[in-house]
Amino acid sequence: MAFSRRNFLKYAAMSAGGAVLADTPFISAEARAKAEGGNVKYVPTSCEMCFWKCGAVAKVVDGKVVKLEGNPFHPQSRGKLCARGQAGIGQLYDEDRLKHPMILDGPRGEGKYRKASWDEALTLVAEKMKAIAEKHGPEAIAMMSHGSPGDYFTNVLKAMGSRNIAFPSFAQCKGIRDVAWELTFGHKPGSSCERVDMENSRVIVLLGTHLGENMHNSQNQEFAEAVSRGAKIICVDPRYSTAASKSAFWLPIKPGTDTALLLAWINIVISEELYDKEYVEKYTVGFDEVKEAVAEYTPEWAAQETELPMRQIVEAVRELCRYAPNVVVHPGRHYSWYGNDTQRARAVAILNALLGTWGRKGGMWLPAKAKFASFNDGNPAYPEASKPPVIKGNFPFAGGEGVTQALRDTTINGKPYPIKAWLVAGTNLMKSLPDQRLTREAIDGLDFFVAIDLFPTETVMLADVILPECTYLERHDGLFKIKTREAGVAIRQPAVEPMYETKPAWWIGSELCKKLGLKEYAVKGDGMDAWEDRMRRQAEAWGVDFEQLSKHTGYVTIPDSEKPYITEDNPPVFGTFSEKIELYSEELEGEGFDPVPQYEPVEQPPKNMFRLIYGRSPVHTFSRTINTQWLWELHKENEVWLNKKEAERLGIKNGQYVVLENQDGIRCNRIKVKATERIRQDCVYMVHGFGHNAPRLSRANKSGADDQQLISKYIEDPITGGTGMRVNFVKIIKEA
Ligand code: SF4
Repeated sequence: MAFSRRNFLKYAAMSAGGAVLADTPFISAEARAKAEGGNVKYVPTSCEMCFWKCGAVAKVVDGKVVKLEGNPFHPQSRGKLCARGQAGIGQLYDEDRLKHPMILDGPRGEGKYRKASWDEALTLVAEKMKAIAEKHGPEAIAMMSHGSPGDYFTNVLKAMGSRNIAFPSFAQCKGIRDVAWELTFGHKPGSSCERVDMENSRVIVLLGTHLGENMHNSQNQEFAEAVSRGAKIICVDPRYSTAASKSAFWLPIKPGTDTALLLAWINIVISEELYDKEYVEKYTVGFDEVKEAVAEYTPEWAAQETELPMRQIVEAVRELCRYAPNVVVHPGRHYSWYGNDTQRARAVAILNALLGTWGRKGGMWLPAKAKFASFNDGNPAYPEASKPPVIKGNFPFAGGEGVTQALRDTTINGKPYPIKAWLVAGTNLMKSLPDQRLTREAIDGLDFFVAIDLFPTETVMLADVILPECTYLERHDGLFKIKTREAGVAIRQPAVEPMYETKPAWWIGSELCKKLGLKEYAVKGDGMDAWEDRMRRQAEAWGVDFEQLSKHTGYVTIPDSEKPYITEDNPPVFGTFSEKIELYSEELEGEGFDPVPQYEPVEQPPKNMFRLIYGRSPVHTFSRTINTQWLWELHKENEVWLNKKEAERLGIKNGQYVVLENQDGIRCNRIKVKATERIRQDCVYMVHGFGHNAPRLSRANKSGADDQQLISKYIEDPITGGTGMRVNFVKIIKEA
């Protein structure tokens, strides 16, 4: 019996009425467990092996998680989990986990700690934070985070009066893109999932986006479905990636010249009148200015700049236009490449607008229509910030998620005021921020540093106090608003009790509030059920059935929220000043930036050096999962991809170990060479996240090489503060 998600929803309704079909793999978690009998439980929850938040179902036998499956009701998983999602069990039962609170017992960085009780550790954290706030002001305490724990410590900092809170997901990843799309369409292109209708696309353009290696579950399922039904893929990548291997056009572009290609494509689309005239007329402003601005970017010029054949440039974009508007130029995700990245993202957005993809089948779906009642559980408003935060640096369009390196810079130079303490939750800053020397310098200068995490990473092991969070399989988090084509609500809830002396982040944040004398911001009630009670109140405020979520389906749809395409009854709403798509941006112009993207060449590698580019592994999430048992077995170390001709020229064999040395003389761990024709001659490529320098990570430590160590140079995007990190060059040194 074939099961679509919609079938499951139908059967879910039946199960709520008591019917159980014997041949359905999953109707209701509770009903399924009853049908199986014995000491079996099925717990619907949400995966956190990455931040896509797929719906997962944990099978628990005799109190142990024995299997994780994709939740068929949940649109992010569609009944499947990726390899990392299935390996969540490996994270849960990893012997290397942080097991109890620890307090530094020696100089910072030497790794000597003593075990502490929660009461002792939290009392110390609260005393230190209070002392720093009294002496320097609450703004002297900063927080950096990734993933779910951020919310709970954001609450602590805001309650104290600090707004110095930043997330690497902005300046080191997708913030640049989000700003560019907001400037153009008045909306981000989606956050926990890009609003890309690949299910129905006839042509998909990927610029450096290596789907299949970058494994966001539902997106990859849609991409695979698109490929199998014959959608054409245009893949722009200096490397013949997995996605390139599925493509009709592989454009092995010279790194740093993507904007040249995009501007030439825009020029062709306009000059050959291939754009959607009615759509452009109705929904956009600034067409004439764009036409004039891109006239100089001819295909001949672009061919020279990008080192792509002119014919390929022209044919690819004509193919794209042939099927417009049922096509999409994927907005991408990780955007911090060269320091001029907002304009590249703007060019992608403008090309989509000219092709009329926003709100069209196979293009970009419209935001789901759903309003959620605001819910803060009766907590009082936060006090005003003691001083304006420094998280936006000097970047006029930096978003609310903050610019992490601006916090780091202020910590080092004390300007405009001192930052003396960091709370770092769920992010390994030594592996996520460029220039590890500066991160270390900032940490060394702190009066106090507390880390909340699952594992003893290199950043955690620099902290003064380490607070061990439990894994997602052992904790509740808030109910999640899920916005795909439809809106829905999903749950994260524990499959098993927290192991060792670990605690959920909500509890840590709440207890910290109490110890800081900010009880009014703590979770209401006592004990470990307090958060579940809060979730029930949240479900009530949102009008969703908590029992259905927690016991049966783990996900509920908001009725009538799915209206993905433009119709007469469903016109698009653009959140820009003009309420239209802004091809020409007066907002950018007002701040002194190009209102239409212009091409800026980037520095090229010196002789005998290669540009370092990096990417993802399908079985790892950044550096977070390298130590996870099954995933480590699948991919233990990264390789450096080197063009075969270059390898021959340098006398290096495939599989040989080498060391990379960057322009600042920094060397990485030894790394194996993959000599291949699948990469251009002017760059080398490695998967990000390997090469841990964390002795307590028994599998990951020294496994492979650390690209971040080699990224000692970065160029800040002047619009958003995004850190361009593909500006480092390496030479290859043969091992003695
Ligand atoms: S994409 Fe994979 S790791 Fe990420 S949430 Fe989904 S199943 Fe989990």
